[in-house]
Amino acid sequence: MFRMSKKRVVILGSTGSIGTSALKVARDIPDRMEVVGLAAHSSVETLAAQVLEFGVRDVCIFDESKAAELRSLVPAGTRILCGLEGLCELATLQQADMVLVSIIGTAGLKPTLQAIEAGKDLAIASKEILVMAGEVVMSRAAAKGINVLPVDSEHNAIFQCLQGHRGGADQVSRLILTASGGPFRTTPREQLTNVTLEQALKHPTWKMGRKITIDSATLFNKGLEMIEARWLFGIPMERVDVIVHPQSIVHSLVEYTDGSILAQLSSSDMCFPIQYAVTWPDRTLNSLKRLNLAEIASLRFEAPRWDDFPALRLARTAGLTGGTMPAMYNAANEVAVQAFVDGKLSFPGIWQTVEQTLANLSPRPYNGSLDIILEDDALARAEAARIISR
Ligand code: MG
Repeated sequence: MFRMSKKRVVILGSTGSIGTSALKVARDIPDRMEVVGLAAHSSVETLAAQVLEFGVRDVCIFDESKAAELRSLVPAGTRILCGLEGLCELATLQQADMVLVSIIGTAGLKPTLQAIEAGKDLAIASKEILVMAGEVVMSRAAAKGINVLPVDSEHNAIFQCLQGHRGGADQVSRLILTASGGPFRTTPREQLTNVTLEQALKHPTWKMGRKITIDSATLFNKGLEMIEARWLFGIPMERVDVIVHPQSIVHSLVEYTDGSILAQLSSSDMCFPIQYAVTWPDRTLNSLKRLNLAEIASLRFEAPRWDDFPALRLARTAGLTGGTMPAMYNAANEVAVQAFVDGKLSFPGIWQTVEQTLANLSPRPYNGSLDIILEDDALARAEAARIISR
């Protein structure tokens, strides 16, 4: 009998929704996954408990003001790092094989590029990284010969459906992302104006962080995923499609040029894509819930409401235009979502702000420059804020 190797993983964003699922996977398959580094933004008690449970010696707390408290909660030999510098240090940790990036926002960009330079495989859960800098990340990863494993459930599903196939643009006719449709899938257009924060935070099938839950309600999450898919799999934007599938059982599909469609199915639990990213190309027995197809009985699909949820159309335009436009799309949405959370913007105001921001600004090619991406990200944030305050 052969022994399969154990992957040594650094988790950036270990106290968030993806991070805690990743630790569940580590508990479930200890022969295949070892946690060697942990980073969190500011949840110091949760982070300390994780350090103790997994015996981790290298840890980063992004918020420097929490470092002393962390120091008091972990064993004496623990190395404590802080800030963006600390994230980068952890991302290049010598004993790590893989870095799981599950940080919200743009803070994950630099550590991701450094992990690539250090030759670490990447498991990417943060959409922003591929949306903003997909071209840079994928080309540098290819040059270094490292693997980029998608953790987003849809992209992980597509990745699984591409295994054993030549996945190029000449073989794949469409990538079909499934969307649950969110809590307002059947809400008439005129009622979307009155949507409250509480209603937007009730996702029908997935339990996730706040920002992504609101993005699922506006379908901006799917829009970001369309752009993400375009870069991850090198398929032209016009061939990245979306189908609404309210049950979230089929996690996405690939249509090949011969008309065959392959799909990946499982129960809605992020542990499935995380485990596959860690154990790929192997499959490992786990304790996750199996699907009972007879009980499910039927799978439902419907066309997305392109006109009522403009996030999808805007994403396609951003992906087709390229350059810094996807970064601007992402940045304007982040600002608009925060304004909605703060009660300063209506629900449709989110996409109206993004649409107006993109109309007012001119995207540029970035030619591999992270600085240009971050400049236009800041520009879009300022413009969105200006539009909202009017
Ligand atoms: Mg997803």
